[in-house]
Amino acid sequence: MDSRLEGIRDTVLARNPGEKEFHQAVIEVFESLGPVHDRHPEFLEGAVLERLCEPERQIIFRVPWTDDAGRVHVNRGFRVEFNSALGPYKGGLRFHPSVYLGIVKFLGFEQIFKNALTGMPIGGGKGGSDFDPRGRTDAEIMRFCQSFMTELYRHIGEYTDVPAGDIGVGGREIGYLFGQYKRITNRYESGVLTGKGISWGGSLVRPEATGYGTVIFAQEMLKTRGQSFDGQRVVVSGSGNVAIHAIAKAQSLGATVVACSDSAGYVVDEAGIDVELLRHIKEVERGRLTEYAARRGGATHVTGGSVWDVNGTVALPCATQNELDGDAAAKLVSNGLIAVAEGANMPSTREAVSVFHEAGILFGPGKAANAGGVATSALEMQQNASRDSWTFEHTEQRLTEIMVGIHDRCAATADEYGAPGNYVVGANIGGFVKVADAMLAQGLI
Ligand code: NDP
Repeated sequence: MDSRLEGIRDTVLARNPGEKEFHQAVIEVFESLGPVHDRHPEFLEGAVLERLCEPERQIIFRVPWTDDAGRVHVNRGFRVEFNSALGPYKGGLRFHPSVYLGIVKFLGFEQIFKNALTGMPIGGGKGGSDFDPRGRTDAEIMRFCQSFMTELYRHIGEYTDVPAGDIGVGGREIGYLFGQYKRITNRYESGVLTGKGISWGGSLVRPEATGYGTVIFAQEMLKTRGQSFDGQRVVVSGSGNVAIHAIAKAQSLGATVVACSDSAGYVVDEAGIDVELLRHIKEVERGRLTEYAARRGGATHVTGGSVWDVNGTVALPCATQNELDGDAAAKLVSNGLIAVAEGANMPSTREAVSVFHEAGILFGPGKAANAGGVATSALEMQQNASRDSWTFEHTEQRLTEIMVGIHDRCAATADEYGAPGNYVVGANIGGFVKVADAMLAQGLI
Protein backbone atom coordinates (compact mmCIF):
# COMPACT_ATOMS: atom_id res chain seq x y z
CA MET A 1 0.00 0.00 0.00
CA ASP A 2 1.16 3.54 -0.78
CA SER A 3 2.79 4.93 2.39
CA ARG A 4 0.70 8.16 2.17
CA LEU A 5 -2.44 6.10 2.65
CA GLU A 6 -1.24 3.93 5.52
CA GLY A 7 -1.92 6.49 8.24
CA ILE A 8 -5.43 7.12 6.89
CA ARG A 9 -6.06 3.36 6.84
CA ASP A 10 -4.81 2.98 10.42
CA THR A 11 -7.13 5.74 11.61
CA VAL A 12 -10.13 4.19 9.83
CA LEU A 13 -9.40 0.77 11.30
CA ALA A 14 -8.88 2.15 14.82
CA ARG A 15 -12.06 4.19 14.85
CA ASN A 16 -14.22 1.29 13.60
CA PRO A 17 -13.10 -1.55 15.85
CA GLY A 18 -14.39 -5.07 15.30
CA GLU A 19 -15.84 -4.35 11.86
CA LYS A 20 -13.67 -6.86 10.02
CA GLU A 21 -15.58 -6.95 6.73
CA PHE A 22 -15.53 -3.14 6.57
CA HIS A 23 -11.77 -3.17 7.26
CA GLN A 24 -11.28 -5.72 4.48
CA ALA A 25 -13.25 -3.65 1.96
CA VAL A 26 -11.37 -0.45 2.89
CA ILE A 27 -7.92 -2.08 2.66
CA GLU A 28 -8.76 -3.65 -0.69
CA VAL A 29 -9.70 -0.24 -2.13
CA PHE A 30 -6.76 1.62 -0.56
CA GLU A 31 -4.31 -0.87 -2.09
CA SER A 32 -5.34 0.30 -5.57
CA LEU A 33 -5.30 4.04 -4.95
CA GLY A 34 -1.61 4.99 -4.62
CA PRO A 35 -1.13 6.01 -8.28
CA VAL A 36 -4.29 8.16 -8.20
CA HIS A 37 -2.81 10.33 -5.48
CA ASP A 38 0.35 10.92 -7.56
CA ARG A 39 -1.82 12.48 -10.25
CA HIS A 40 -4.34 14.11 -7.93
CA PRO A 41 -2.64 15.61 -4.89
CA GLU A 42 -5.86 17.62 -4.36
CA PHE A 43 -7.54 14.41 -3.16
CA LEU A 44 -5.06 14.19 -0.26
CA GLU A 45 -5.30 17.94 0.49
CA GLY A 46 -9.09 17.71 0.54
CA ALA A 47 -9.00 14.63 2.84
CA VAL A 48 -11.25 12.83 0.37
CA LEU A 49 -10.40 9.35 1.66
CA GLU A 50 -10.91 10.30 5.29
CA ARG A 51 -14.35 11.70 4.40
CA LEU A 52 -15.24 8.78 2.13
CA CYS A 53 -14.62 6.23 4.89
CA GLU A 54 -16.92 8.00 7.33
CA PRO A 55 -20.59 7.44 6.42
CA GLU A 56 -22.64 10.61 6.06
CA ARG A 57 -25.24 9.09 8.39
CA GLN A 58 -25.73 5.76 10.23
CA ILE A 59 -29.10 4.75 11.58
CA ILE A 60 -29.56 1.82 13.99
CA PHE A 61 -33.00 1.02 15.30
CA ARG A 62 -35.14 -1.46 17.21
CA VAL A 63 -37.50 -3.70 15.22
CA PRO A 64 -40.09 -5.36 17.48
CA TRP A 65 -42.52 -7.85 15.92
CA THR A 66 -44.72 -10.78 16.88
CA ASP A 67 -44.61 -14.31 15.49
CA ASP A 68 -47.71 -16.33 14.64
CA ALA A 69 -47.95 -17.62 18.21
CA GLY A 70 -48.04 -14.05 19.53
CA ARG A 71 -44.50 -14.14 20.96
CA VAL A 72 -42.60 -10.87 20.84
CA HIS A 73 -39.21 -10.75 19.08
CA VAL A 74 -36.77 -7.87 18.84
CA ASN A 75 -34.31 -7.44 15.98
CA ARG A 76 -31.91 -4.68 15.08
CA GLY A 77 -32.36 -2.60 11.92
CA PHE A 78 -29.64 -0.67 10.08
CA ARG A 79 -29.38 1.89 7.33
CA VAL A 80 -25.99 3.35 6.53
CA GLU A 81 -26.23 6.36 4.22
CA PHE A 82 -22.63 6.35 3.08
CA ASN A 83 -22.12 8.86 0.31
CA SER A 84 -24.43 11.11 -1.70
CA ALA A 85 -21.88 12.87 -3.94
CA LEU A 86 -23.39 11.39 -7.11
CA GLY A 87 -27.06 11.06 -6.18
CA PRO A 88 -29.48 9.78 -3.55
CA TYR A 89 -28.15 6.91 -1.43
CA LYS A 90 -28.85 3.66 -3.23
CA GLY A 91 -28.26 0.10 -2.08
CA GLY A 92 -30.10 -2.96 -0.86
CA LEU A 93 -31.45 -4.27 2.41
CA ARG A 94 -30.14 -7.59 3.73
CA PHE A 95 -32.10 -9.78 6.16
CA HIS A 96 -29.78 -12.44 7.53
CA PRO A 97 -28.77 -13.43 11.09
CA SER A 98 -25.12 -12.53 10.36
CA VAL A 99 -25.97 -8.84 9.73
CA TYR A 100 -24.27 -6.30 12.01
CA LEU A 101 -22.86 -2.82 11.47
CA GLY A 102 -19.56 -4.10 9.99
CA ILE A 103 -21.35 -6.00 7.22
CA VAL A 104 -23.70 -3.14 6.41
CA LYS A 105 -20.73 -0.74 6.24
CA PHE A 106 -18.66 -3.01 4.00
CA LEU A 107 -21.60 -3.34 1.64
CA GLY A 108 -22.34 0.39 1.73
CA PHE A 109 -18.69 1.28 1.12
CA GLU A 110 -18.47 -1.06 -1.90
CA GLN A 111 -21.75 0.35 -3.17
CA ILE A 112 -20.28 3.86 -3.50
CA PHE A 113 -17.74 2.72 -6.10
CA LYS A 114 -20.09 0.27 -7.80
CA ASN A 115 -22.75 2.90 -8.27
CA ALA A 116 -20.19 5.38 -9.61
CA LEU A 117 -19.03 2.80 -12.16
CA THR A 118 -22.55 2.40 -13.56
CA GLY A 119 -22.48 6.01 -14.73
CA MET A 120 -25.94 6.53 -13.19
CA PRO A 121 -26.77 9.38 -10.75
CA ILE A 122 -26.81 7.29 -7.55
CA GLY A 123 -24.89 7.55 -4.28
CA GLY A 124 -24.04 4.64 -1.99
CA GLY A 125 -25.89 3.16 0.98
CA LYS A 126 -26.92 -0.17 2.45
CA GLY A 127 -29.12 -1.51 5.21
CA GLY A 128 -30.72 -4.56 6.70
CA SER A 129 -31.40 -6.50 9.83
CA ASP A 130 -30.19 -9.52 11.79
CA PHE A 131 -33.70 -10.95 11.30
CA ASP A 132 -33.64 -14.53 9.96
CA PRO A 133 -36.45 -15.00 7.42
CA ARG A 134 -35.81 -18.72 7.03
CA GLY A 135 -38.75 -20.84 8.19
CA ARG A 136 -40.94 -17.78 8.83
CA THR A 137 -44.48 -17.67 7.45
CA ASP A 138 -45.64 -14.98 5.03
CA ALA A 139 -47.60 -13.35 7.86
CA GLU A 140 -44.50 -13.19 10.06
CA ILE A 141 -42.40 -11.76 7.21
CA MET A 142 -45.09 -9.13 6.64
CA ARG A 143 -45.23 -8.08 10.28
CA PHE A 144 -41.46 -7.86 10.42
CA CYS A 145 -41.28 -5.76 7.23
CA GLN A 146 -44.02 -3.44 8.50
CA SER A 147 -42.21 -2.90 11.78
CA PHE A 148 -38.90 -2.34 9.97
CA MET A 149 -40.47 0.28 7.69
CA THR A 150 -42.23 2.00 10.59
CA GLU A 151 -38.81 3.37 11.54
CA LEU A 152 -37.05 3.37 8.15
CA TYR A 153 -39.70 5.47 6.36
CA ARG A 154 -38.56 8.74 7.95
CA HIS A 155 -35.05 8.34 6.52
CA ILE A 156 -35.78 7.39 2.90
CA GLY A 157 -37.41 8.92 -0.16
CA GLU A 158 -37.10 9.22 -3.92
CA TYR A 159 -34.61 12.10 -3.59
CA THR A 160 -32.98 10.95 -0.36
CA ASP A 161 -32.34 7.24 -0.10
CA VAL A 162 -33.74 4.42 -2.25
CA PRO A 163 -33.38 0.89 -0.80
CA ALA A 164 -33.76 -2.37 -2.77
CA GLY A 165 -33.30 -6.10 -2.10
CA ASP A 166 -30.27 -8.19 -1.17
CA ILE A 167 -29.86 -11.52 0.66
CA GLY A 168 -33.20 -12.45 2.24
CA VAL A 169 -35.05 -9.52 0.64
CA GLY A 170 -36.80 -10.22 -2.67
CA GLY A 171 -40.05 -9.21 -4.33
CA ARG A 172 -42.25 -10.37 -1.45
CA GLU A 173 -40.38 -8.29 1.14
CA ILE A 174 -40.18 -5.21 -1.11
CA GLY A 175 -43.96 -5.46 -1.50
CA TYR A 176 -44.60 -5.45 2.25
CA LEU A 177 -42.07 -2.65 2.77
CA PHE A 178 -43.61 -0.51 0.02
CA GLY A 179 -47.13 -1.08 1.32
CA GLN A 180 -46.17 0.12 4.78
CA TYR A 181 -44.29 3.16 3.41
CA LYS A 182 -47.34 4.15 1.38
CA ARG A 183 -49.64 3.67 4.34
CA ILE A 184 -47.55 5.80 6.71
CA THR A 185 -46.76 8.62 4.29
CA ASN A 186 -50.00 8.59 2.28
CA ARG A 187 -47.89 8.90 -0.88
CA TYR A 188 -47.65 6.55 -3.83
CA GLU A 189 -43.97 7.32 -4.21
CA SER A 190 -42.84 4.61 -6.64
CA GLY A 191 -39.25 5.80 -6.69
CA VAL A 192 -38.68 5.18 -2.97
CA LEU A 193 -37.87 1.47 -3.38
CA THR A 194 -36.69 -0.63 -6.31
CA GLY A 195 -37.30 -4.29 -7.04
CA LYS A 196 -41.06 -3.68 -6.97
CA GLY A 197 -43.59 -6.00 -8.65
CA ILE A 198 -43.97 -5.44 -12.37
CA SER A 199 -47.65 -4.46 -12.11
CA TRP A 200 -47.05 -1.77 -9.46
CA GLY A 201 -43.99 0.17 -10.59
CA GLY A 202 -41.28 -2.43 -10.96
CA SER A 203 -39.02 -2.83 -13.95
CA LEU A 204 -38.79 -5.80 -16.25
CA VAL A 205 -35.30 -7.38 -16.08
CA ARG A 206 -34.70 -6.15 -12.50
CA PRO A 207 -35.00 -9.69 -11.04
CA GLU A 208 -32.62 -11.04 -13.69
CA ALA A 209 -30.27 -8.05 -13.78
CA THR A 210 -27.54 -8.93 -11.29
CA GLY A 211 -27.06 -12.50 -12.53
CA TYR A 212 -27.38 -11.54 -16.20
CA GLY A 213 -25.02 -8.61 -15.73
CA THR A 214 -22.39 -10.76 -14.04
CA VAL A 215 -22.37 -13.14 -16.99
CA ILE A 216 -22.27 -10.27 -19.51
CA PHE A 217 -19.25 -8.84 -17.65
CA ALA A 218 -17.56 -12.26 -17.68
CA GLN A 219 -18.29 -12.65 -21.38
CA GLU A 220 -16.55 -9.31 -22.05
CA MET A 221 -13.52 -10.47 -20.05
CA LEU A 222 -13.42 -13.75 -22.00
CA LYS A 223 -13.58 -11.84 -25.29
CA THR A 224 -10.30 -10.07 -24.45
CA ARG A 225 -8.67 -13.51 -24.76
CA GLY A 226 -10.60 -14.57 -27.84
CA GLN A 227 -12.93 -16.80 -25.80
CA SER A 228 -16.64 -16.93 -24.91
CA PHE A 229 -19.07 -18.78 -22.65
CA ASP A 230 -19.78 -21.28 -25.39
CA GLY A 231 -18.57 -24.69 -24.23
CA GLN A 232 -17.40 -23.51 -20.79
CA ARG A 233 -17.97 -25.65 -17.72
CA VAL A 234 -19.30 -23.29 -15.07
CA VAL A 235 -19.49 -23.62 -11.28
CA VAL A 236 -21.82 -21.27 -9.39
CA SER A 237 -22.19 -20.75 -5.66
CA GLY A 238 -25.54 -19.85 -4.14
CA SER A 239 -28.98 -20.65 -5.49
CA GLY A 240 -30.78 -17.41 -4.77
CA ASN A 241 -31.74 -14.50 -6.99
CA VAL A 242 -28.28 -13.75 -8.38
CA ALA A 243 -27.22 -17.38 -8.83
CA ILE A 244 -30.41 -18.50 -10.60
CA HIS A 245 -30.23 -15.79 -13.23
CA ALA A 246 -26.47 -16.16 -13.68
CA ILE A 247 -27.03 -19.88 -14.36
CA ALA A 248 -29.81 -19.12 -16.86
CA LYS A 249 -27.73 -16.53 -18.74
CA ALA A 250 -24.55 -18.63 -18.83
CA GLN A 251 -26.48 -21.60 -20.23
CA SER A 252 -28.21 -19.38 -22.81
CA LEU A 253 -24.72 -18.48 -24.06
CA GLY A 254 -23.76 -22.13 -24.52
CA ALA A 255 -22.13 -22.97 -21.19
CA THR A 256 -22.98 -25.94 -18.99
CA VAL A 257 -23.46 -25.02 -15.33
CA VAL A 258 -22.55 -28.19 -13.48
CA ALA A 259 -22.94 -27.11 -9.84
CA CYS A 260 -24.61 -24.63 -7.48
CA SER A 261 -24.98 -24.43 -3.70
CA ASP A 262 -26.88 -23.17 -0.68
CA SER A 263 -25.76 -22.83 2.92
CA ALA A 264 -26.30 -26.57 3.56
CA GLY A 265 -24.32 -28.02 0.64
CA TYR A 266 -24.18 -28.22 -3.14
CA VAL A 267 -25.53 -30.17 -6.10
CA VAL A 268 -23.58 -31.51 -9.04
CA ASP A 269 -25.53 -31.97 -12.25
CA GLU A 270 -23.27 -32.90 -15.14
CA ALA A 271 -26.12 -32.49 -17.65
CA GLY A 272 -26.41 -28.81 -16.70
CA ILE A 273 -28.62 -27.31 -13.99
CA ASP A 274 -32.34 -27.40 -14.82
CA VAL A 275 -33.08 -23.73 -14.14
CA GLU A 276 -36.85 -24.06 -14.13
CA LEU A 277 -36.73 -26.85 -11.55
CA LEU A 278 -34.24 -24.87 -9.44
CA ARG A 279 -36.40 -21.74 -9.61
CA HIS A 280 -39.50 -23.64 -8.64
CA ILE A 281 -37.84 -25.22 -5.62
CA LYS A 282 -36.13 -22.03 -4.47
CA GLU A 283 -38.62 -19.29 -5.37
CA VAL A 284 -42.01 -21.01 -5.21
CA GLU A 285 -41.50 -23.74 -2.62
CA ARG A 286 -38.69 -21.90 -0.77
CA GLY A 287 -37.08 -25.35 -0.42
CA ARG A 288 -33.55 -26.74 -0.23
CA LEU A 289 -31.15 -28.12 -2.82
CA THR A 290 -31.59 -31.66 -1.46
CA GLU A 291 -35.01 -31.51 -3.13
CA TYR A 292 -33.41 -30.61 -6.46
CA ALA A 293 -31.19 -33.71 -6.31
CA ALA A 294 -34.14 -35.86 -5.25
CA ARG A 295 -36.20 -34.81 -8.28
CA ARG A 296 -33.55 -34.53 -10.97
CA GLY A 297 -32.15 -37.77 -12.35
CA GLY A 298 -28.36 -37.82 -12.51
CA ALA A 299 -27.87 -34.98 -10.02
CA THR A 300 -26.14 -35.61 -6.70
CA HIS A 301 -26.24 -33.60 -3.48
CA VAL A 302 -23.20 -33.13 -1.28
CA THR A 303 -23.93 -32.02 2.27
CA GLY A 304 -21.43 -29.51 3.63
CA GLY A 305 -18.13 -29.35 1.74
CA SER A 306 -17.33 -26.66 -0.80
CA VAL A 307 -18.79 -26.16 -4.24
CA TRP A 308 -15.31 -25.00 -5.28
CA ASP A 309 -14.17 -28.63 -5.12
CA VAL A 310 -16.07 -29.12 -8.37
CA ASN A 311 -13.85 -28.42 -11.36
CA GLY A 312 -14.89 -25.82 -13.89
CA THR A 313 -13.38 -23.35 -16.34
CA VAL A 314 -15.48 -20.41 -15.11
CA ALA A 315 -16.45 -19.73 -11.47
CA LEU A 316 -19.31 -17.40 -10.53
CA PRO A 317 -19.47 -16.87 -6.74
CA CYS A 318 -23.05 -15.66 -6.14
CA ALA A 319 -23.74 -16.42 -2.44
CA THR A 320 -22.05 -14.25 0.18
CA GLN A 321 -18.87 -12.53 1.39
CA ASN A 322 -15.63 -14.49 1.97
CA GLU A 323 -17.05 -17.76 0.64
CA LEU A 324 -14.03 -18.42 -1.60
CA ASP A 325 -10.68 -18.50 0.23
CA GLY A 326 -7.08 -18.92 -0.89
CA ASP A 327 -7.17 -22.73 -0.73
CA ALA A 328 -10.37 -22.90 -2.76
CA ALA A 329 -8.86 -20.50 -5.31
CA ALA A 330 -5.73 -22.64 -5.63
CA LYS A 331 -7.85 -25.74 -6.12
CA LEU A 332 -9.94 -24.06 -8.83
CA VAL A 333 -6.78 -22.90 -10.61
CA SER A 334 -5.24 -26.37 -10.53
CA ASN A 335 -8.52 -27.74 -11.92
CA GLY A 336 -8.33 -25.63 -15.08
CA LEU A 337 -10.07 -22.35 -14.19
CA ILE A 338 -9.75 -19.46 -16.66
CA ALA A 339 -12.17 -16.81 -15.33
CA VAL A 340 -14.03 -15.65 -12.21
CA ALA A 341 -16.79 -13.04 -12.07
CA GLU A 342 -18.23 -12.14 -8.67
CA GLY A 343 -22.03 -12.01 -8.59
CA ALA A 344 -21.90 -11.66 -4.80
CA ASN A 345 -20.26 -8.81 -2.89
CA MET A 346 -16.66 -9.57 -1.82
CA PRO A 347 -17.07 -13.38 -2.05
CA SER A 348 -13.33 -13.88 -2.66
CA THR A 349 -10.94 -13.29 0.23
CA ARG A 350 -7.86 -11.14 -0.40
CA GLU A 351 -5.76 -14.33 -0.52
CA ALA A 352 -8.05 -15.80 -3.18
CA VAL A 353 -7.79 -12.66 -5.31
CA SER A 354 -3.98 -12.83 -5.09
CA VAL A 355 -4.05 -16.47 -6.20
CA PHE A 356 -6.20 -15.57 -9.21
CA HIS A 357 -4.01 -12.63 -10.19
CA GLU A 358 -0.77 -14.59 -9.83
CA ALA A 359 -2.17 -17.38 -12.00
CA GLY A 360 -3.26 -14.92 -14.71
CA ILE A 361 -6.94 -15.77 -14.26
CA LEU A 362 -9.45 -13.23 -15.57
CA PHE A 363 -10.97 -11.81 -12.36
CA GLY A 364 -14.00 -9.50 -12.29
CA PRO A 365 -14.56 -8.04 -8.79
CA GLY A 366 -18.12 -7.71 -7.49
CA LYS A 367 -18.23 -3.94 -7.51
CA ALA A 368 -17.91 -4.09 -11.30
CA ALA A 369 -19.27 -7.53 -12.23
CA ASN A 370 -22.49 -7.40 -10.16
CA ALA A 371 -23.32 -3.74 -10.83
CA GLY A 372 -26.08 -4.73 -13.26
CA GLY A 373 -28.54 -5.08 -10.38
CA VAL A 374 -28.19 -1.56 -9.09
CA ALA A 375 -27.92 -0.18 -12.62
CA THR A 376 -31.29 -1.71 -13.47
CA SER A 377 -32.65 -0.34 -10.20
CA ALA A 378 -31.61 3.07 -11.52
CA LEU A 379 -33.47 2.24 -14.75
CA GLU A 380 -36.51 1.40 -12.58
CA MET A 381 -36.18 4.85 -10.98
CA GLN A 382 -36.05 6.44 -14.45
CA GLN A 383 -39.23 4.62 -15.49
CA ASN A 384 -40.95 5.65 -12.23
CA ALA A 385 -39.93 9.29 -12.68
CA SER A 386 -41.37 9.40 -16.19
CA ARG A 387 -44.43 7.24 -15.34
CA ASP A 388 -43.30 4.88 -18.07
CA SER A 389 -42.51 1.19 -18.36
CA TRP A 390 -40.12 -0.24 -20.88
CA THR A 391 -40.17 -3.58 -22.69
CA PHE A 392 -38.00 -6.49 -21.60
CA GLU A 393 -35.93 -6.20 -24.78
CA HIS A 394 -35.27 -2.48 -24.37
CA THR A 395 -34.36 -2.82 -20.69
CA GLU A 396 -32.10 -5.80 -21.33
CA GLN A 397 -30.39 -3.88 -24.11
CA ARG A 398 -29.74 -0.98 -21.69
CA LEU A 399 -28.36 -3.45 -19.12
CA THR A 400 -26.04 -4.99 -21.71
CA GLU A 401 -24.76 -1.56 -22.78
CA ILE A 402 -24.16 -0.59 -19.16
CA MET A 403 -22.25 -3.81 -18.38
CA VAL A 404 -20.11 -3.56 -21.51
CA GLY A 405 -19.44 0.07 -20.59
CA ILE A 406 -18.39 -0.86 -17.04
CA HIS A 407 -16.10 -3.58 -18.39
CA ASP A 408 -14.47 -1.23 -20.89
CA ARG A 409 -14.06 1.56 -18.31
CA CYS A 410 -12.39 -0.82 -15.85
CA ALA A 411 -10.09 -2.20 -18.55
CA ALA A 412 -9.14 1.26 -19.84
CA THR A 413 -8.53 2.61 -16.32
CA ALA A 414 -6.34 -0.39 -15.46
CA ASP A 415 -4.31 0.27 -18.64
CA GLU A 416 -4.07 3.98 -17.88
CA TYR A 417 -2.70 3.31 -14.39
CA GLY A 418 -0.16 0.70 -15.50
CA ALA A 419 -2.03 -2.45 -14.45
CA PRO A 420 -3.37 -3.91 -17.70
CA GLY A 421 -5.92 -6.70 -17.22
CA ASN A 422 -6.33 -5.93 -13.51
CA TYR A 423 -10.07 -5.26 -13.12
CA VAL A 424 -9.68 -4.70 -9.36
CA VAL A 425 -7.44 -1.70 -9.96
CA GLY A 426 -9.66 -0.53 -12.83
CA ALA A 427 -12.86 -0.73 -10.79
CA ASN A 428 -11.44 0.86 -7.65
CA ILE A 429 -9.77 3.76 -9.42
CA GLY A 430 -12.58 4.27 -11.95
CA GLY A 431 -15.21 4.50 -9.21
CA PHE A 432 -13.08 6.48 -6.79
CA VAL A 433 -12.02 9.28 -9.15
CA LYS A 434 -15.61 9.98 -10.14
CA VAL A 435 -16.78 10.22 -6.53
CA ALA A 436 -13.70 12.16 -5.39
CA ASP A 437 -14.13 14.79 -8.12
CA ALA A 438 -17.78 15.26 -7.17
CA MET A 439 -16.95 15.53 -3.47
CA LEU A 440 -14.35 18.24 -4.07
CA ALA A 441 -16.70 20.14 -6.39
CA GLN A 442 -19.41 20.18 -3.70
CA GLY A 443 -17.18 21.72 -1.02
CA LEU A 444 -16.41 20.54 2.48
CA ILE A 445 -19.54 18.60 3.37
P1 NDP B 1 -30.61 -14.56 -1.97
O1 NDP B 1 -31.06 -14.42 -0.58
O2 NDP B 1 -31.61 -14.61 -3.06
O3 NDP B 1 -29.67 -15.86 -2.13
C1 NDP B 1 -28.52 -16.00 -1.36
C2 NDP B 1 -27.91 -17.36 -1.67
O4 NDP B 1 -26.64 -17.44 -1.02
C3 NDP B 1 -28.74 -18.52 -1.12
O5 NDP B 1 -28.53 -19.64 -1.92
C4 NDP B 1 -28.13 -18.72 0.27
O6 NDP B 1 -28.30 -20.04 0.76
C5 NDP B 1 -26.67 -18.45 -0.01
N1 NDP B 1 -26.04 -17.91 1.22
C6 NDP B 1 -26.37 -16.77 1.87
N2 NDP B 1 -25.63 -16.62 2.97
C7 NDP B 1 -24.81 -17.68 2.99
C8 NDP B 1 -23.82 -18.09 3.89
N3 NDP B 1 -23.48 -17.37 4.98
N4 NDP B 1 -23.15 -19.25 3.60
C9 NDP B 1 -23.47 -19.98 2.50
N5 NDP B 1 -24.44 -19.63 1.62
C10 NDP B 1 -25.09 -18.50 1.87
O7 NDP B 1 -29.59 -13.35 -2.20
P2 NDP B 1 -29.08 -12.71 -3.56
O8 NDP B 1 -28.96 -13.75 -4.60
O9 NDP B 1 -29.87 -11.51 -3.82
O10 NDP B 1 -27.62 -12.21 -3.13
C11 NDP B 1 -26.45 -13.02 -3.27
C12 NDP B 1 -25.21 -12.14 -3.26
O11 NDP B 1 -25.28 -11.21 -4.35
C13 NDP B 1 -25.00 -11.29 -2.00
O12 NDP B 1 -23.61 -11.16 -1.77
C14 NDP B 1 -25.56 -9.93 -2.43
O13 NDP B 1 -24.99 -8.87 -1.65
C15 NDP B 1 -25.10 -9.89 -3.87
N6 NDP B 1 -25.81 -8.94 -4.72
C16 NDP B 1 -27.16 -9.04 -4.88
C17 NDP B 1 -27.82 -8.17 -5.71
C18 NDP B 1 -29.27 -8.33 -6.03
O14 NDP B 1 -29.74 -7.65 -6.96
N7 NDP B 1 -30.02 -9.19 -5.37
C19 NDP B 1 -27.12 -7.05 -6.36
C20 NDP B 1 -25.68 -7.10 -6.20
C21 NDP B 1 -25.08 -8.00 -5.38
P3 NDP B 1 -29.43 -20.30 1.89
O15 NDP B 1 -30.74 -20.15 1.19
O16 NDP B 1 -29.16 -21.70 2.35
O17 NDP B 1 -29.21 -19.28 2.97
